[in-house]
Amino acid sequence: MANHSNGNSNQSAASLNTPPIKFTKLFINGNFVDSISGKTFDTIDPRTEEVITKVSLGGAEDVDLAVKAARHAFDHGPWPRMSGSERGKIMMKFADLIEENAEELAALDAVNGGKLFTLCKLIDIPSATKALRYYGGAADKIHGTVLKLSKGLQGYTLREPIGVVGSIIPWNFPTVMFFMKTAPALAAGCTIVLKPAEQTPLSALYYAHLAKLAGVPDGVLNVVNGYGSTAGAAISSHMDIDKVTFTGSTEVGRMIMTAAAASNLKPVSLELGGKSPLLIFDDADIDQAADIVFRGMFFNKGEICVASSRVYVQEGIYEKLKKKLVEKAKATVVGDPFDPKVHQGPQINKKQFERILSYIEHGKREGATLLTGGKHVGEKGYYIEPTIFSDVKDDMIIAKEEIFGPVMSLMKFKTMEEAIKRANNTTYGLAAGIVTKNLNVANTVSRSIRAGMVWINCYTAFDVDCPYGGYKMSGFGRDYGLDGLNQYLQVKSVVTPIFDSPWH
Ligand code: NAD
Repeated sequence: MANHSNGNSNQSAASLNTPPIKFTKLFINGNFVDSISGKTFDTIDPRTEEVITKVSLGGAEDVDLAVKAARHAFDHGPWPRMSGSERGKIMMKFADLIEENAEELAALDAVNGGKLFTLCKLIDIPSATKALRYYGGAADKIHGTVLKLSKGLQGYTLREPIGVVGSIIPWNFPTVMFFMKTAPALAAGCTIVLKPAEQTPLSALYYAHLAKLAGVPDGVLNVVNGYGSTAGAAISSHMDIDKVTFTGSTEVGRMIMTAAAASNLKPVSLELGGKSPLLIFDDADIDQAADIVFRGMFFNKGEICVASSRVYVQEGIYEKLKKKLVEKAKATVVGDPFDPKVHQGPQINKKQFERILSYIEHGKREGATLLTGGKHVGEKGYYIEPTIFSDVKDDMIIAKEEIFGPVMSLMKFKTMEEAIKRANNTTYGLAAGIVTKNLNVANTVSRSIRAGMVWINCYTAFDVDCPYGGYKMSGFGRDYGLDGLNQYLQVKSVVTPIFDSPWH
């Protein structure tokens, strides 16, 4: 098991599958501190179901302390007052420090979240440095406009940081989510109280440490670990937080919005669940289509909000594609995420593991055909086979609800119009995909689907300069891109007479 000290372990890269655990406390006002109650909670390794370490358990009183620190840093500290280029320089340094510690950080997400170590190194950690550099570069380009007004007046707009930001993030991409929320807020000049998911607190604490080393002033970035119903709820209802940004389930998004409305009416942005359709047309290259469909669903063991869990295949290639997908599922190696031969690690925890298996039972009971998978793998750990159902009907539970695990539903369609109608027949609207060589089809479908992200002949192709967020019950607000930065800015108009008269 990992060692549990707070700051000075020298474990070598060779033993990264049990990485050193250096930080386990709360990070408030630039210091690692115990929670006020002194309580801790266990953080679990989903490979073994064993405790990795104990982490300080923050509650409402710790959130309050963190908000006071963030408020003070915002109202009196240097961060919102320094030039954008100075903030940008610190953010670049932060990115460099992440690169220097990339292996260890990737190992923390792999051990805590059951994520593939190699993919954490290739995707998650680089997404953090890209976000810091992109928004760090944007920090000195935030400016308002000059207003030409009537009646002898002139004016200008200022774009000011929104204030103290509360960020509540999920466990499926601990690093990506941390920087998706903090990098634009830091660039804007905001201060932050972030609550990581209780399942994956470890990398967030390491990032807090690196932020301090990079020169982020005390109080600007605070991390309070804890449960959603206590620490999370305290953030969404806090009277001195100016904005909340959340990624997670639709149910919790609704609670956060209700709490924000009932407290100080703080604005919220919500990136919630999905049940994303992927439409494969007859003219698609079968091998390319199979790769896109497979990756779209099983990437990160299906624990991704944009997972292409509803696959609509045009009847001409349905049978062929089905066969290819089953071959791919059978060739998938499920196991320890540190093993380079492994394609799929364990699900995050017991609750999700049982939930996914119960959806698979629902699918069987409702009459879908289980083509492959459906069982757990091994004796220990939350491993589930990649699972594919065919003959799925749109009104079956597995076609309607977000499963958040490696379970794909295959459905057949005849015409483009039918596919569009069925793809839109959902309460969600996060993402969608199209595989076709026909430009007319690609353009018609992409404009007809009600979703915040549409991929054509690719899937899960994210980049920091591409805005991302939902339609309908998948939430509102955009992360990433300059839209992501705007969420952390207020517009103030300043108006003055050009000459003394007539306002003298
Ligand atoms: P969740 O929505 O309960 O948790 C996400 C975050 O919200 C965590 O940090 C959690 O502590 C916090 N939270 C929980 N209750 C809260 C409350 N009352 N007030 C404030 N914060 C609160 O998600 P979960 O239970 O971990 O997973 C359940 C389902 O949510 C999944 O099966 C999946 O469908 C969905 N989910 C979606 C995403 C996504 O990226 N959109 C991520 C994780 C989970």
